[in-house]
Amino acid sequence: MTWTNNVTTLLPAEGETLFIDGAWQPTGSRATFAVDNPADGATLFQVSDGTVEDATRALASADDAAEAWAATSPAERRRVLETAYDAVMDHKEIFAELMTREMGKTYKEALGEVNYGAGFLKWFAEEAMRAYGRTFHLPDGRKGLVTHDPVGPCYLVTPWNFPLAMGTRKIGPALAAGDTMVVKPASATPLTTIALIEVLRQAGVPAGVVNLVTSKHSTAISNTLLDDPRLRKISFTGSTSVGKALMARATNQVLRTSMELGGNAPFVVFDDADVDKAVEGVLLAKFRNNGQACTAANRILVQNGIAPAFVAKLKAAVEDFTVGDGMDEGTDVSALINERAVERMERIVADAVDHGATLVVGGHRDGHGPCFFEPTVLDNVPRDAEVFTDEIFGPVLPISRFDTDEEGMAAANDTIYGLAFYAFTTSIARSEWVQRHAQAGVLAINSGVLSDASVPFGGVKQSGIGREGGAEGIYEYMNTKYTLIVP
Ligand code: NAD
Repeated sequence: MTWTNNVTTLLPAEGETLFIDGAWQPTGSRATFAVDNPADGATLFQVSDGTVEDATRALASADDAAEAWAATSPAERRRVLETAYDAVMDHKEIFAELMTREMGKTYKEALGEVNYGAGFLKWFAEEAMRAYGRTFHLPDGRKGLVTHDPVGPCYLVTPWNFPLAMGTRKIGPALAAGDTMVVKPASATPLTTIALIEVLRQAGVPAGVVNLVTSKHSTAISNTLLDDPRLRKISFTGSTSVGKALMARATNQVLRTSMELGGNAPFVVFDDADVDKAVEGVLLAKFRNNGQACTAANRILVQNGIAPAFVAKLKAAVEDFTVGDGMDEGTDVSALINERAVERMERIVADAVDHGATLVVGGHRDGHGPCFFEPTVLDNVPRDAEVFTDEIFGPVLPISRFDTDEEGMAAANDTIYGLAFYAFTTSIARSEWVQRHAQAGVLAINSGVLSDASVPFGGVKQSGIGREGGAEGIYEYMNTKYTLIVP
């Protein structure tokens, strides 16, 4: 494989991608699997196919390192995280290329993800200094103390769609809190995480504090670790169905859990919206990452008065998109994660059209390769069509029109999910009404982008439990301890 940037400087030898007790190593059987580029099918790298035994060794290593890491000063943890932040930013092009090649997103967006993902290292470097407790007096005058302790060894499981940011959003706060960990990235996109772990090693994270298991044996590894009494927490980002299975298993040991799961975000455009801003917003909220984001606008609800202008402008903008390899400059929409995703797009678009939707733009496979699908807009989509009820995870934008504000809000909230919610309106009163009624963990009014390391991110309903980022993020990795002091 010929890389454009100096990528191999951050990767260990092929087939030696387990990182346990401070050393890169192969799995006992030396088994590997290939990581392929969805844009052209080329194999990028051979990654160790870690076993249950490897994962157990990784947890043992995290357990051995736990006490010493918990005892480090906040200033020391900040130093390590800041050094890692600087190193990721110094190797921006390497991380961006890894992401583009292993999962398809455009290089421009991958560079954006480097800023966003590295931001969690910087933010939690600072939060390490601010995990304040409090002292107080009970009603009878005795003195109480509230402190926050590291939870202990964590199991961190990440998805393929934001290979860097989903890792730093967990590893950053866990390190800041004083926890040790076993990280398991998605098998489709382990290379970015491998490079991140190498950066952490170089930044001085002590042996055993961060361990990495690359593997295709997700279920067996998860079940073993979740049942191991040395584990104290699981933090998972991925689909709601896998999250539920992990939550069920985590009950065996009553583990602390953080679950960042699927979404089905509504994007509501009211009649009084600025139509140009609403179109600009929906293009970002829908087509960023080729629609493969938990925050992706999934159901576009447009009030009848503004709908003709909104659809016309949107159609023109989407027709202007360039489809191509994510590494090519000027590409707007690139390869999806795999061919199954493309088959699913074909099926849900055909199903919507069968049920009466109008195909406005796109709707078919794209000729660049088996993992490409045309950016697509559907209008007049019935709200019970699969494209509206299920997470799309691709470049398909379904529109349904509504009449009254109440009808729009009811349709927006009519989902088992509750992650992101977008609304466009120029009325302050409407904005406040939306803010009050939206069933979501994160809400953007007049913006198509809302994530940042400094804000608490997470869902309600079946989109998850817990918050990542913001002032809240570090406490997901700490236990609250109350102490009564009687003189
Ligand atoms: P996924 O659930 O298939 O996989 C996520 C991770 O879990 C991967 O590491 C995978 O290897 C692992 N895994 C899969 N099956 C497992 C099992 N049975 N036991 C243990 N681990 C298992 O999700 P995905 O396809 O990688 O990612 C897409 C999903 O992630 C979407 O639903 C998306 O909405 C969600 N997501 C949510 C957020 C959020 O912050 N809420 C962010 C990104 C993605």
